[in-house]
Amino acid sequence: MEPLLHIDNITKSFGSETVLHNVSFMLQEHEVLSVLGKSGSGKTTLLKILAGLEKEDDGTISLSRKRMNDTPPNKRNIVYLYQEPLLFPHLNVSENIAFGLKIRKQSPDVIKTKVEHMLAEIGLEEHAEKMPHQLSGGQRQRVSFARALIIEPKVLLLDEPFGALDAETRVQMQELFKKLSKKMKLTSIFITHDLKEALTMGDHIGKIELGHFKRYESKQDFYDDVDSGAQQEAAFWKQFN
Ligand code: ADP
Repeated sequence: MEPLLHIDNITKSFGSETVLHNVSFMLQEHEVLSVLGKSGSGKTTLLKILAGLEKEDDGTISLSRKRMNDTPPNKRNIVYLYQEPLLFPHLNVSENIAFGLKIRKQSPDVIKTKVEHMLAEIGLEEHAEKMPHQLSGGQRQRVSFARALIIEPKVLLLDEPFGALDAETRVQMQELFKKLSKKMKLTSIFITHDLKEALTMGDHIGKIELGHFKRYESKQDFYDDVDSGAQQEAAFWKQFN
């Protein structure tokens, strides 16, 4: 199958610091790729380059075989979701979700139907009229998801999306994301520094270390790599058996 996203030899430096070294990988349609990496390894820079929010020094990004390097962020059909949901504070939940459809000049009837559908998907029908400051962290993240998904992006980029949530809410959000991901056939890159989250969320696993990217053939391959940290984690739990 032809890959949806094709990243070839992306390089990026800030001053004398090279943050990404010839990063190359592919993403199939409907695939969720988890990317693990420590802080400072270049994860955010990579996502920003894919979203068009940062300019690469070299290399190419193609979506459905079309070169995207010079396409502005709003024309890429790639949505970047931050850890902290950036909602418009003066718009309520429904209006926040509707935003992308309004600027695309969709009709009020279509917007209403799509927003109601998204509210049901994220389980916030009862909260449609609330303002962002009246929501919990998990609810704000749901709204942020819905706002991104309603415009049906080709690729979703998630940068530690659940990092700021408590453990229980985090699990709920992982389940919601998995459900929506299957249902809406999302193609996404899911960045996390949490090993278990990476394995739970991703169909495939990649890793970025000091700007060097590696994609594993399979989860077993990832586990077998002594540098992945998976075997150390398994050994830790085994001592309690
Ligand atoms: P991660 O998301 O993995 O924590 P980042 O991509 O944010 O890592 O950063 C990788 C490296 O690039 C860090 O050393 C950071 O200081 C540097 N960096 C990121 N953005 C900039 C910038 N705009 N100017 C200079 N250095 C930057």
